[in-house]
Amino acid sequence: MKLNIKDKFNKKLPADPILENTRRQVSKACFSNVLPKQTAKPELLHVSPEMLENIGLSDADAKSDAFLRVFTGNEVLTNTKPYAMCYGGHQFGNWAGQLGDGRAINLFEVEHNHKNWVLQLKGAGETPYSRTADGLAVLRSSVREYLCSEAIYHLGIPTTRALSLALSGDQVLRDIMYDGNSAYEKGAIVCRTAESFLRFGSYQIFGARQDEETLKTLVDYTIRNHFSRLGKPSKETYIAFFKEVSNRTLDMIIHWQRVGFVHGVMNTDNMSILGLTIDYGPYGWLEGYEYGWTPNTTDRQHKRYRYGNQPNIGLWNLLQLANAMYPLIEDAEPLEAVLNQYKTDFETRLLNMMRSKLGLHIEDENDQKLILELEDILHSTETDMTIFFRNLGNFKKSEALKGLIIIQDAFYKTEEVVGNIQKRWNEWFENYADRLKKETFSDEERKEKMNTTNPKYVLRNYMAQLAIDDADKGDYKLIDELFQMLKKPYDEQLEYQKWFAKRPDWARDKVGCSMLSCSS
Ligand code: AMP
Ligand code: MG
Repeated sequence: MKLNIKDKFNKKLPADPILENTRRQVSKACFSNVLPKQTAKPELLHVSPEMLENIGLSDADAKSDAFLRVFTGNEVLTNTKPYAMCYGGHQFGNWAGQLGDGRAINLFEVEHNHKNWVLQLKGAGETPYSRTADGLAVLRSSVREYLCSEAIYHLGIPTTRALSLALSGDQVLRDIMYDGNSAYEKGAIVCRTAESFLRFGSYQIFGARQDEETLKTLVDYTIRNHFSRLGKPSKETYIAFFKEVSNRTLDMIIHWQRVGFVHGVMNTDNMSILGLTIDYGPYGWLEGYEYGWTPNTTDRQHKRYRYGNQPNIGLWNLLQLANAMYPLIEDAEPLEAVLNQYKTDFETRLLNMMRSKLGLHIEDENDQKLILELEDILHSTETDMTIFFRNLGNFKKSEALKGLIIIQDAFYKTEEVVGNIQKRWNEWFENYADRLKKETFSDEERKEKMNTTNPKYVLRNYMAQLAIDDADKGDYKLIDELFQMLKKPYDEQLEYQKWFAKRPDWARDKVGCSMLSCSS
């Protein structure tokens, strides 16, 4: 196994001088060196062929004993020094102090085809940042992260990715619903990859500790290594950097809104500085189109991280990052300008994103109204987001009254689509047909365009849960089937048609399907 290892983070940034693996507050350092845990019986369940290629490895490498040992933490490559990153964060709106990689261990960085990849094991044992937890991960959450990060990538959304999914062979105790019913589950390890795993919280921790020196070292490092096109670090570059982070964050969230992805825990420690979707925990996909929906039961009361609130939370998180960076800039105005720009951009970009979902290419002043009215009716009875938008592509502008038939499959309770709701749908379809007449595209061309925006296949929670249930019994076929299907989410792929369906009734209120907790 030959890897072009080019460690930077742990070579250029200040390290925690303590080498013992004891839980502690770590100051004036960006990381602590730590070794992954030896596991009882490591077993690889799946490897991503594309990620293998991205880091310059072959299928044969993936079958080697070395690969299994390295990517489950059982062997540390010579000349590499694994480490856990130090960061803080706001959790559910409150400053939580030091968090850090409590169960993630970065192995090394690889450079291949001019790209930088950090390889990180999630669930490989405790670190100085493990606080009261065990540093481990279970099969259930690892399957979810492995499948979803690759699915998000293939949907064209910036994200961390995954190289491999493995069982550790150890048992891990978890209380899934935090109700006193703990049980042992299979331990697992995902090797995640990203250009960098730096988060908003990585900067916040130094802001909170008034450690300007390390803050500046880290920001300068970030600009030089990940935003070099902005130029040499200076006050102007810091502002440009913040602007770029803001743009990328918004870009990512608009994509989430487009496909109905709800992250579930948008704490500032879960916000990537590169604008990548990161930390797949109690995430979920909209089934019924509903602004107020969140999959995370921990957030059931306030629904802070509900679907419709994600763009606002992005802004709130950026404000926290701005506060952290302020000491380097000492001028609030340019930071405020960036935040104000986010607000304006977010309105226009949401509108344009919805236009593209409807197949509208020219801009019309009444589009906002048409979209608001649509969202309103979508909320009036449970309507499946993915099926609705995908089937809408079949609409013909000369046949407005067939609209309802075309989208019929999206309704969870067809019996409710009568009377006033039916009337409103028909009116909406007539308005939509009129609006489409202003476009130059034919029905067929519009459908083709819409199909590149409205995915046919997403990783519905129940699908991941079926794969998890099978995997728990030692059958990994479904993991591979979903993995393959989700590589082409916009294609018809008729062989997978059975997955283009509403959530089955049994999954409506099932733990793991509609209710997820942070326990993982
Ligand atoms: P999350 O909400 O999953 O992003 O986690 C928040 C913080 O808790 C991060 O610092 C994690 O590293 C840490 N954490 C979560 N689960 C565990 C665990 N099982 N062991 C140690 N630390 C954990
Ligand atoms: Mg996290």
